[in-house]
Amino acid sequence: MKVTCNKCGAEIFSTFSENMDELCKACKQAILQKIEIAEHNYQEQMRSHPFQKLWRFLVYRVYVTDDGYNGLSHDEKVYFSLSVFEGEYNNGGLKRFFSNSSDTLFRDVIYGLMLLEAKQTMKLLLKAKDILIGEIDPREDNKNRWMQ
Ligand SMILES: [Zn+2]
Repeated sequence: MKVTCNKCGAEIFSTFSENMDELCKACKQAILQKIEIAEHNYQEQMRSHPFQKLWRFLVYRVYVTDDGYNGLSHDEKVYFSLSVFEGEYNNGGLKRFFSNSSDTLFRDVIYGLMLLEAKQTMKLLLKAKDILIGEIDPREDNKNRWMQ
C-alpha cells in the first residue's frame, strides 16, 4: 500500500510510516534534528539562567555543607522549600512531597505560600497533610516528627 509523506508528499511504504505519523524518513530525521537542537538550546539556557544557578547553589549548601538547610537565610529557605514542594508535587504529587520532606520544610512551604498569598494552595496542602500523613510511610527520620 502506497502512502505519501504528510510533510513533503514523497511516497513511502506504509510499514515504515506506522509509527512516524505518516512522515518519510527524511522528514522525520529533520524533525528529530530540530527537537535535538531545541533541547540543546533549552539546556544551555537553563544552565545560564540565574534562577537555575541560585537553585544549584542552594542545593549544594543544603546537601553538601555542614550547616545544611539551617545554614540558609530566611528568604533562601522560603525559595528552597517552595521549589522542593513544586518539584515533588510535579514528580509524584503530594504523597511524594510528604514522604520525602521533613516537617521543617513543610512549615517553610506553608509560610512561603502565605507570603505569596496562595491561600487556596495552603488550605489544600494542610488538608492533604491531615489525610495523607496517616496513610503514607514517611522516611524513618521524619516519622517521629510527622506523627506528633
Ligand atoms: Zn517527507
